[in-house]
Amino acid sequence: FFIAIEGGDGAGKSTQVEALAEWIRAKGHEVVVTREPGATPIGKRLRSILLDISSEGLSNRAEALLYAADRAEHVSSVVRPALERGAIVISDRYIDSSVAYQGAGRDLSPTEIARISRWATDGLVPHLTVLLDVLPETARERFTEAPDRLESEPAEFHQRVRAGFLTLAAADPGRYLVVDAGQEPGSVATVVRHRLDRMLPL
Ligand code: C5P
Repeated sequence: FFIAIEGGDGAGKSTQVEALAEWIRAKGHEVVVTREPGATPIGKRLRSILLDISSEGLSNRAEALLYAADRAEHVSSVVRPALERGAIVISDRYIDSSVAYQGAGRDLSPTEIARISRWATDGLVPHLTVLLDVLPETARERFTEAPDRLESEPAEFHQRVRAGFLTLAAADPGRYLVVDAGQEPGSVATVVRHRLDRMLPL
């Protein structure tokens, strides 16, 4: 069973990923927590290229392809092997982040970005995608980990990213859970657990 947790910077993804993993583990299941970009040795190198401030001149298409390369490596060496042995995989970001950031955010075609990701992953789609939806203004107040990362893009960029995520969720409501991530983390976690309890009796 494959779960992706998506959302903009400052939506609280890492907190929710940890809470969810602990809850599922307590029920006796193997859980693999992973992330994009940077879950594999090659991915770590790609992450440092992508997030290094000196890569600011990276062209949009090259950036999209580096994220896709990270994802291809991630799926083939971490996610698929874990799913094949029956583990529950929780990924902090997946395809939707590319569609939202490189597609909606950077003004490339979201459809083309989705197509590249589909090829990179050989069609691996999560069973459930949790979208932690938060207003960029709220995220900005909370995101103390790397404020310069948020500031490096204009507010409109983060608004386009948010809209990009919401469009994806609206197109496939059966596979998405959209949670208001402006609530306190405990309430967000409860909503996620309810949905999982219905989908995957643990
Ligand atoms: O979630 P995490 O902090 O690891 O993401 C690192 C950064 O990479 C985020 O700030 C986000 O802006 C960026 N990112 C991106 N496109 C993706 C995934 C992440 O621009 N597909």
